[in-house]
Amino acid sequence: MLLALGLAALGLIVGPLLGIVIDRAVERETLAPVLRCPECATDLGPPIPLQRWFGACPTDPAHARWRYPATDLLTAATFFLAGWRFETSFQLIPYLVAFAALVVLIIIDFETHLLPNIITYPLMAAIAFAVLVMSGPNNFQDGLWPALIGGAVFGGFLLVAFIAYPPGLGLGDVKLAPSLGMLLGWLTAVSLDAIRLPLYAMLIGMVSGALYGLTARTLFHRRSEEDQQAILKKQRSDWIPGEVAMGPFLILGTLVMIAVTTPAVLS
Ligand SMILES: [Zn+2]
Repeated sequence: MLLALGLAALGLIVGPLLGIVIDRAVERETLAPVLRCPECATDLGPPIPLQRWFGACPTDPAHARWRYPATDLLTAATFFLAGWRFETSFQLIPYLVAFAALVVLIIIDFETHLLPNIITYPLMAAIAFAVLVMSGPNNFQDGLWPALIGGAVFGGFLLVAFIAYPPGLGLGDVKLAPSLGMLLGWLTAVSLDAIRLPLYAMLIGMVSGALYGLTARTLFHRRSEEDQQAILKKQRSDWIPGEVAMGPFLILGTLVMIAVTTPAVLS
Protein backbone atom coordinates (compact mmCIF):
# COMPACT_ATOMS: atom_id res chain seq x y z
CA MET A 1 0.00 0.00 0.00
CA LEU A 2 2.91 2.35 0.77
CA LEU A 3 4.24 1.70 -2.73
CA ALA A 4 0.83 2.46 -4.24
CA LEU A 5 0.60 5.77 -2.32
CA GLY A 6 4.14 6.67 -3.40
CA LEU A 7 3.23 5.99 -7.01
CA ALA A 8 0.07 8.12 -6.64
CA ALA A 9 2.32 11.00 -5.51
CA LEU A 10 4.58 10.31 -8.51
CA GLY A 11 1.45 10.52 -10.66
CA LEU A 12 0.94 14.14 -9.57
CA ILE A 13 4.45 14.93 -10.86
CA VAL A 14 4.06 12.94 -14.09
CA GLY A 15 0.58 14.42 -14.74
CA PRO A 16 1.84 17.88 -15.86
CA LEU A 17 4.34 16.18 -18.21
CA LEU A 18 1.49 14.20 -19.78
CA GLY A 19 -0.33 17.56 -20.03
CA ILE A 20 2.39 18.71 -22.43
CA VAL A 21 1.92 15.61 -24.58
CA ILE A 22 -1.85 16.22 -24.61
CA ASP A 23 -1.46 19.92 -25.56
CA ARG A 24 0.80 19.08 -28.47
CA ALA A 25 -1.20 16.09 -29.66
CA VAL A 26 -4.38 18.20 -29.71
CA GLU A 27 -2.64 21.08 -31.50
CA ARG A 28 -0.51 18.77 -33.68
CA GLU A 29 2.76 20.50 -32.81
CA THR A 30 6.18 19.26 -31.82
CA LEU A 31 6.97 18.88 -28.12
CA ALA A 32 8.06 21.95 -26.11
CA PRO A 33 8.37 22.04 -22.31
CA VAL A 34 5.50 24.45 -21.57
CA LEU A 35 1.80 23.99 -20.89
CA ARG A 36 -0.79 25.93 -22.91
CA CYS A 37 -4.32 27.13 -22.24
CA PRO A 38 -6.64 24.54 -23.86
CA GLU A 39 -8.87 27.33 -25.23
CA CYS A 40 -6.54 30.09 -26.48
CA ALA A 41 -3.12 28.36 -26.44
CA THR A 42 -1.58 31.07 -24.23
CA ASP A 43 1.74 29.96 -22.74
CA LEU A 44 1.14 28.91 -19.12
CA GLY A 45 4.74 28.16 -18.15
CA PRO A 46 6.66 24.99 -17.25
CA PRO A 47 4.95 21.80 -16.02
CA ILE A 48 5.25 22.43 -12.25
CA PRO A 49 3.20 19.87 -10.26
CA LEU A 50 -0.23 21.11 -9.04
CA GLN A 51 0.52 24.70 -10.13
CA ARG A 52 -1.97 24.69 -13.01
CA TRP A 53 -4.84 23.68 -10.74
CA PHE A 54 -5.23 27.19 -9.36
CA GLY A 55 -3.83 29.78 -11.79
CA ALA A 56 -6.35 31.11 -14.30
CA CYS A 57 -5.54 31.81 -17.95
CA PRO A 58 -3.83 35.26 -18.18
CA THR A 59 -5.77 36.13 -21.35
CA ASP A 60 -9.23 35.30 -20.01
CA PRO A 61 -9.83 33.89 -16.48
CA ALA A 62 -13.03 32.26 -17.74
CA HIS A 63 -11.08 29.84 -19.94
CA ALA A 64 -11.62 26.25 -18.87
CA ARG A 65 -8.71 24.60 -17.11
CA TRP A 66 -10.25 21.27 -16.11
CA ARG A 67 -7.77 19.45 -18.35
CA TYR A 68 -4.84 19.84 -15.93
CA PRO A 69 -6.46 18.70 -12.65
CA ALA A 70 -8.21 15.89 -14.58
CA THR A 71 -4.89 14.71 -16.08
CA ASP A 72 -3.08 14.86 -12.73
CA LEU A 73 -5.84 13.07 -10.80
CA LEU A 74 -6.24 10.35 -13.45
CA THR A 75 -2.47 9.79 -13.49
CA ALA A 76 -2.34 9.58 -9.68
CA ALA A 77 -5.36 7.21 -9.60
CA THR A 78 -4.05 4.86 -12.31
CA PHE A 79 -0.52 4.84 -10.81
CA PHE A 80 -2.08 3.96 -7.44
CA LEU A 81 -4.00 1.13 -9.13
CA ALA A 82 -0.78 -0.19 -10.73
CA GLY A 83 1.12 -0.11 -7.41
CA TRP A 84 -1.75 -1.72 -5.54
CA ARG A 85 -2.36 -4.52 -8.06
CA PHE A 86 1.16 -5.33 -9.22
CA GLU A 87 3.22 -4.44 -6.12
CA THR A 88 6.87 -5.05 -7.02
CA SER A 89 6.21 -7.69 -9.70
CA PHE A 90 7.91 -7.38 -13.09
CA GLN A 91 4.56 -6.29 -14.54
CA LEU A 92 4.49 -3.02 -12.56
CA ILE A 93 6.57 -0.95 -15.00
CA PRO A 94 4.75 -2.06 -18.20
CA TYR A 95 1.38 -1.28 -16.63
CA LEU A 96 2.59 2.12 -15.33
CA VAL A 97 3.78 3.08 -18.81
CA ALA A 98 0.55 1.82 -20.39
CA PHE A 99 -1.59 3.70 -17.84
CA ALA A 100 0.26 6.97 -18.57
CA ALA A 101 -0.56 6.52 -22.27
CA LEU A 102 -4.19 5.66 -21.46
CA VAL A 103 -4.54 8.88 -19.41
CA VAL A 104 -3.32 10.89 -22.42
CA LEU A 105 -5.79 9.06 -24.68
CA ILE A 106 -8.72 9.62 -22.28
CA ILE A 107 -8.22 13.41 -22.21
CA ILE A 108 -7.55 13.75 -25.96
CA ASP A 109 -10.53 11.59 -26.91
CA PHE A 110 -12.82 13.51 -24.54
CA GLU A 111 -11.79 16.85 -26.04
CA THR A 112 -11.36 16.01 -29.72
CA HIS A 113 -13.18 12.68 -30.21
CA LEU A 114 -9.96 11.32 -31.71
CA LEU A 115 -7.47 8.68 -30.60
CA PRO A 116 -4.26 9.68 -32.41
CA ASN A 117 -2.36 6.89 -34.21
CA ILE A 118 0.85 8.40 -32.89
CA ILE A 119 -0.16 7.10 -29.45
CA THR A 120 -2.34 4.05 -30.14
CA TYR A 121 0.18 2.25 -32.42
CA PRO A 122 3.27 2.65 -30.19
CA LEU A 123 1.15 1.66 -27.18
CA MET A 124 0.09 -1.55 -28.91
CA ALA A 125 3.70 -2.31 -29.92
CA ALA A 126 5.02 -1.55 -26.41
CA ILE A 127 2.51 -3.82 -24.66
CA ALA A 128 3.06 -6.66 -27.17
CA PHE A 129 6.82 -6.23 -26.69
CA ALA A 130 6.48 -6.35 -22.88
CA VAL A 131 4.25 -9.45 -23.04
CA LEU A 132 6.48 -11.34 -25.49
CA VAL A 133 9.85 -10.38 -24.01
CA MET A 134 9.14 -10.23 -20.27
CA SER A 135 6.81 -13.22 -19.73
CA GLY A 136 9.39 -15.95 -20.34
CA PRO A 137 12.40 -14.69 -18.36
CA ASN A 138 10.07 -13.97 -15.41
CA ASN A 139 8.58 -17.49 -15.37
CA PHE A 140 5.17 -16.34 -16.55
CA GLN A 141 5.01 -18.29 -19.82
CA ASP A 142 1.43 -19.20 -18.88
CA GLY A 143 0.52 -15.53 -19.25
CA LEU A 144 1.70 -15.25 -22.84
CA TRP A 145 -1.24 -16.86 -24.63
CA PRO A 146 -3.95 -15.28 -22.44
CA ALA A 147 -2.46 -11.84 -23.17
CA LEU A 148 -2.57 -12.44 -26.93
CA ILE A 149 -6.05 -13.99 -26.71
CA GLY A 150 -7.28 -10.97 -24.71
CA GLY A 151 -5.90 -8.62 -27.36
CA ALA A 152 -7.52 -10.61 -30.18
CA VAL A 153 -10.89 -10.79 -28.40
CA PHE A 154 -11.08 -7.06 -27.57
CA GLY A 155 -9.73 -6.04 -30.99
CA GLY A 156 -11.89 -8.52 -32.91
CA PHE A 157 -15.07 -7.64 -31.06
CA LEU A 158 -14.65 -3.89 -31.64
CA LEU A 159 -13.74 -4.43 -35.30
CA VAL A 160 -16.99 -6.37 -35.80
CA ALA A 161 -18.95 -3.70 -33.89
CA PHE A 162 -17.29 -0.96 -35.98
CA ILE A 163 -18.21 -2.68 -39.25
CA ALA A 164 -21.75 -3.47 -38.06
CA TYR A 165 -22.51 0.02 -36.69
CA PRO A 166 -19.84 2.57 -37.67
CA PRO A 167 -21.49 5.68 -36.09
CA GLY A 168 -21.14 4.19 -32.60
CA LEU A 169 -17.38 3.73 -32.74
CA GLY A 170 -14.30 5.28 -34.31
CA LEU A 171 -11.46 3.48 -36.05
CA GLY A 172 -9.31 4.83 -33.19
CA ASP A 173 -11.29 2.68 -30.76
CA VAL A 174 -10.55 -0.38 -32.92
CA LYS A 175 -6.82 0.47 -32.87
CA LEU A 176 -6.87 0.95 -29.08
CA ALA A 177 -8.77 -2.28 -28.32
CA PRO A 178 -5.92 -4.83 -28.78
CA SER A 179 -3.85 -2.89 -26.21
CA LEU A 180 -6.69 -2.96 -23.67
CA GLY A 181 -7.27 -6.66 -24.36
CA MET A 182 -3.59 -7.51 -23.84
CA LEU A 183 -3.51 -5.54 -20.55
CA LEU A 184 -6.51 -7.63 -19.40
CA GLY A 185 -5.35 -11.00 -20.72
CA TRP A 186 -1.88 -10.59 -19.19
CA LEU A 187 -3.52 -10.57 -15.74
CA THR A 188 -4.39 -14.25 -15.96
CA ALA A 189 -2.92 -17.62 -16.88
CA VAL A 190 -6.33 -19.04 -17.84
CA SER A 191 -7.40 -18.70 -21.49
CA LEU A 192 -11.11 -18.61 -20.63
CA ASP A 193 -10.53 -15.63 -18.31
CA ALA A 194 -8.67 -13.91 -21.15
CA ILE A 195 -11.96 -14.03 -23.10
CA ARG A 196 -14.17 -13.15 -20.12
CA LEU A 197 -12.22 -10.09 -18.91
CA PRO A 198 -12.35 -8.11 -22.21
CA LEU A 199 -16.06 -8.91 -22.63
CA TYR A 200 -16.84 -7.54 -19.14
CA ALA A 201 -14.65 -4.49 -19.78
CA MET A 202 -16.49 -3.80 -23.06
CA LEU A 203 -19.86 -4.20 -21.36
CA ILE A 204 -18.90 -1.75 -18.58
CA GLY A 205 -17.53 0.65 -21.19
CA MET A 206 -20.57 0.58 -23.45
CA VAL A 207 -23.13 0.82 -20.63
CA SER A 208 -21.30 3.69 -18.88
CA GLY A 209 -20.76 5.47 -22.22
CA ALA A 210 -24.45 5.16 -23.10
CA LEU A 211 -25.50 6.44 -19.66
CA TYR A 212 -23.11 9.38 -19.98
CA GLY A 213 -24.47 10.23 -23.44
CA LEU A 214 -28.05 10.02 -22.22
CA THR A 215 -27.29 12.27 -19.23
CA ALA A 216 -25.43 14.79 -21.37
CA ARG A 217 -28.29 14.94 -23.87
CA THR A 218 -30.93 15.36 -21.13
CA LEU A 219 -28.93 18.17 -19.49
CA PHE A 220 -28.47 19.88 -22.86
CA HIS A 221 -32.20 19.89 -23.63
CA ARG A 222 -33.00 21.28 -20.17
CA ARG A 223 -30.94 24.41 -20.86
CA SER A 224 -32.46 27.62 -22.13
CA GLU A 225 -32.70 28.25 -25.88
CA GLU A 226 -29.88 30.84 -25.78
CA ASP A 227 -27.57 28.52 -23.82
CA GLN A 228 -28.21 25.74 -26.33
CA GLN A 229 -27.41 28.04 -29.26
CA ALA A 230 -24.21 29.23 -27.54
CA ILE A 231 -23.06 25.62 -27.04
CA LEU A 232 -23.94 24.60 -30.60
CA LYS A 233 -21.94 27.57 -31.92
CA LYS A 234 -18.78 26.33 -30.16
CA GLN A 235 -19.11 22.81 -31.64
CA ARG A 236 -18.57 21.35 -35.10
CA SER A 237 -21.53 21.70 -37.46
CA ASP A 238 -22.34 17.98 -37.35
CA TRP A 239 -22.16 17.77 -33.55
CA ILE A 240 -25.19 16.27 -31.84
CA PRO A 241 -25.94 16.79 -28.12
CA GLY A 242 -24.95 13.76 -26.07
CA GLU A 243 -22.48 12.52 -28.68
CA VAL A 244 -20.02 10.28 -26.85
CA ALA A 245 -16.39 9.37 -27.51
CA MET A 246 -16.22 5.67 -26.58
CA GLY A 247 -12.44 5.52 -25.94
CA PRO A 248 -12.51 6.89 -22.37
CA PHE A 249 -15.30 4.49 -21.43
CA LEU A 250 -13.59 1.42 -22.92
CA ILE A 251 -10.48 2.42 -20.94
CA LEU A 252 -12.62 2.90 -17.83
CA GLY A 253 -14.09 -0.62 -18.23
CA THR A 254 -10.56 -2.00 -18.62
CA LEU A 255 -9.31 -0.20 -15.48
CA VAL A 256 -12.32 -1.47 -13.50
CA MET A 257 -11.60 -5.08 -14.52
CA ILE A 258 -7.91 -4.65 -13.64
CA ALA A 259 -8.97 -3.26 -10.23
CA VAL A 260 -11.15 -6.29 -9.42
CA THR A 261 -8.72 -8.96 -10.71
CA THR A 262 -5.77 -10.32 -8.76
CA PRO A 263 -2.89 -10.75 -11.26
CA ALA A 264 -1.86 -14.38 -11.75
CA VAL A 265 1.80 -13.58 -11.06
CA LEU A 266 0.92 -12.59 -7.49
CA SER A 267 -1.85 -15.07 -6.69
ZN1 LIG B 1 -6.86 30.99 -22.38
